[in-house]
Amino acid sequence: MQNYKTVWSNCLQIIKDNLGPNNEQVFRTWFEPIVPIQLEDNVLTIQVPSQFFYEWLEEHFIDLLKRTIRLQLGPNGMLKYSILMDTSIAGTPITTSIPSSGKQATYNRAKEMPLVVNSDDNHREIPNPFVLPGIQKVKINSQLNGNYTLENFVEGDCNRLARAAGYAVAENPGRTSFNPLLLHGGVGLGKTHLAHAIGIKTKEKHPDITVLYVTSEQFLQQYVESVKNKNTNDFIHFYELVDFLILDDIQFWTSKGVHTQEAFFHIFNYLHQKNRQIIITSDKAPSEMGSLEPRLLSRLKWGLSADLSTPDVSTRIAILKQKLDNDGIEMPEDVIEYIAYNIDTNIRELEGALVSLIAQSSLNHRQITIELAKQMIDKFVKSTSREITIDYIQRVVCDYFKLPLDSIQSPTRKREIVQARQLTMYFAKKLTKSSLAIIGLQCGNKDHATVLHACKTVANLNETDKQFHFWVDELEKKIRE
Ligand code: ADP
Ligand code: MG
Repeated sequence: MQNYKTVWSNCLQIIKDNLGPNNEQVFRTWFEPIVPIQLEDNVLTIQVPSQFFYEWLEEHFIDLLKRTIRLQLGPNGMLKYSILMDTSIAGTPITTSIPSSGKQATYNRAKEMPLVVNSDDNHREIPNPFVLPGIQKVKINSQLNGNYTLENFVEGDCNRLARAAGYAVAENPGRTSFNPLLLHGGVGLGKTHLAHAIGIKTKEKHPDITVLYVTSEQFLQQYVESVKNKNTNDFIHFYELVDFLILDDIQFWTSKGVHTQEAFFHIFNYLHQKNRQIIITSDKAPSEMGSLEPRLLSRLKWGLSADLSTPDVSTRIAILKQKLDNDGIEMPEDVIEYIAYNIDTNIRELEGALVSLIAQSSLNHRQITIELAKQMIDKFVKSTSREITIDYIQRVVCDYFKLPLDSIQSPTRKREIVQARQLTMYFAKKLTKSSLAIIGLQCGNKDHATVLHACKTVANLNETDKQFHFWVDELEKKIRE
């Protein structure tokens, strides 16, 4: 009797060898997370983290998996997936066997509705800015920005899942479980870029598909307009002609437009039922979109929600290099690294810094050097000066005294930690607008009297103790940096 763990670890070895050394990242992303759980009657069950993961394996590695299983378990060997946490589609069965034929369903959708409306057929105008009436036909303009392609969307840990999901959607629009695909992440992290890129890739792969990109704000305006003109039905009908709808920045709706949301809800259902693809972006996670219509919110949870997070420094360097490459500009390596290390907020700011630096150098006929970069970034960072938070103060203080970050929260009475806690309280009082009670709460659940006492103690020591005075001085500089 073979042990399932041994069998899977042999499989992994085969897979790794087959993928080769250039695909280590692929191996780490798609195979390392798999957990073997059972071997019974020649059926090996493996656990995968999500429906998305399962589909990805099936789509990209089915042949490799089959060969591997055959080598390990013989011709009757089978692989069964157990999906750990299915956030994709309600009601999907928990286990899915590898399909014996392994054939891919080809994307071949008959159109239910003509996308080109002959104006001769009916004289009804579709009142929408995206419909450009031609002499014979009306055509929908996608509103896609050709500069935002998947090819120039640099891949990194911060966007791997979203990018991969986007790619899968472009290959098989409306036919994956990522429908809707929800892209979310903070400002300037690439949601809009990726959404356009998926639309462009889709058109490349399926030229007949009608893609439409629209911002939530535009959608809202059109809707309001249609209400005013009493042709909301035409408005809805127009959206029902679309095969692939991208709605950008849905968080814009959370504060307004109940009726707009209803109209969208209607359109959403219609498109979804007909297996048309929907992509939605938001700078909030679904769980934080409290004021979105609950029915709509629950729809958004049907598909895949993919995060875009802050890029790490190597991705930031890669992004800068790509932008420079695109524009045919050369820049010394150390300057690129300097910018990448210093601008860590988001990609829009990273680009902004790069552009200012290039502008500075060409306006003043100065060479791009690290000194110039320093001057520019100093200004740049100051102008976008971040708000000082209690959290941030804690980090600076702990870092300064080389204490673990959670020590301030702990109840310990150790002298050095008490001191660090008091300093944190003092600076929180001085540099933030937080109340004593809030400061106490965030610094180890103390009451406001303790915070007050801490502030007095620090102020006293600052005047009487030389060493202490030095610390306070240094810390304040660091916090304000
Ligand atoms: P968001 O919509 O999330 O606010 P954007 O999509 O507008 O962010 O991105 C901001 C800028 O950063 C754009 O100019 C975009 O091209 C660029 N950008 C974002 N992510 C990437 C990436 N992975 N590779 C290259 N450029 C990127
Ligand atoms: Mg955007």
